Amino acid sequence: MGLVVQKYGGSSVADALGITRVAQRIVATKKAGHDVVVVVSAMGDTTDELTDLAQQVTPLPPPRELDMLLTAGERISMALLAMAIQNLGQVAKSYTGSQAGVLTTSHHGRAKIIDVTPGRIRQALEEGAVAIVAGFQGVSQDTKEITTLGRGGSDTTAVALAAALGADVCEIYTDVDGVFTADPRIVPSARRIPRISYSEMLEMAACGSKILHLRCVEYARRYQIPIHVRSSFSAKIGTWVADLKVLQAARQARVVDTPSASEEGEMEQPIISGVSHDRSEAKITVVAVPDKVGEAARIFKTLADAEINIDMIVQNVSGIATGRTDISFSLPRADGQVAMTALSRIKDEVGYEQLLYDDRIGKVSLIGAGMRTNPGVAARFFAAVAEAGVNIEMISTSEIRVSVVVDEDDVDNAVAAAHRAFDLDSDEVEAVVYGGTGR
Ligand code: ASP
Ligand code: MG
Repeated sequence: MGLVVQKYGGSSVADALGITRVAQRIVATKKAGHDVVVVVSAMGDTTDELTDLAQQVTPLPPPRELDMLLTAGERISMALLAMAIQNLGQVAKSYTGSQAGVLTTSHHGRAKIIDVTPGRIRQALEEGAVAIVAGFQGVSQDTKEITTLGRGGSDTTAVALAAALGADVCEIYTDVDGVFTADPRIVPSARRIPRISYSEMLEMAACGSKILHLRCVEYARRYQIPIHVRSSFSAKIGTWVADLKVLQAARQARVVDTPSASEEGEMEQPIISGVSHDRSEAKITVVAVPDKVGEAARIFKTLADAEINIDMIVQNVSGIATGRTDISFSLPRADGQVAMTALSRIKDEVGYEQLLYDDRIGKVSLIGAGMRTNPGVAARFFAAVAEAGVNIEMISTSEIRVSVVVDEDDVDNAVAAAHRAFDLDSDEVEAVVYGGTGR
């Protein structure tokens, strides 16, 4: 029998009833003969509420104390869940991230996991207990302070634990039936994706799909951990995030609830897996940059020093008359102010004319491993966007992705048009959102 790591999101444990329901599910897995380690998120909107509370006492909460505060959310749900399981007659023990051996960097609010040393979790399993671990948190290896992993970080806790324990599968329970070909709130005819490769899921998570934390997918790929994203409100099989050979190995090891080869559609992988969108970015244009060696380096070094992650970059050929060119790039909206300030400081040094800031943009991305070998994907995508009457402001590509930046108001139309153009629409409405928050 195997070792299963199960992660339950906030909407699955939103109230006492939810916690009881989840406890029954865990006990059923345990009774089927598996060892079970559970990672929980904070109940419902607790993390948002705690953040609001902090904002009410100070406009700038000290990062150390904010982490202390936010980690309390997961401590509440882990203890309640352990109690609910014990009430059903199984032994269960809860552990904070620190107790579970989740060692991180010291950056409060966005710490990275460095190592997981789950000695106490192994011991609990040996004693026959279900181990419940608080998600989203750890302890800094050098400062010994309590840290958090960034919003949505419990997914990463779960996969990191699964890797450290050598689990057979990491099940991520949420309030939708899996990963869909588009956000069902925009495209009601979106389909559930039976299996998606790590690289495609990484692109989706990086392009605005909020179903899995980006770092959790990176971790899963590095350690080849199969992830099963599914709803805690139904018994349906969800989406397997795994490369084909990892899924086949899981099937052979008789891990719980793997799809059969035919259900999974192993034979006919579509060219396009899905369409993602992101409304969290902004665009900055540096106007009339002199066309000389080193200007782009100076601009982007300034942004790198300010710890800003740049997404797309567009630079045109310079005008013959002026010898100047515009450079545009996109970045997280949250970093917009910092970037503008940093760039204004180097105005004279670089010699550009002005800075333009636009946060009324959205990004729509088409993702699919099949585009490597199928020509014409970009053309079909752009044609669909054009037919929807949507203007494209920027374009970027990877081997398995084409993204466009459009006006914020055009995002929904562009997503629906692309989804239709690649025949991703399902005949019936498959997507059910049980909880409503996607957590
Ligand atoms: N509770 C945290 C959040 O709301 C972590 C998580 O749910 O993954 O972001
Ligand atoms: Mg989440």
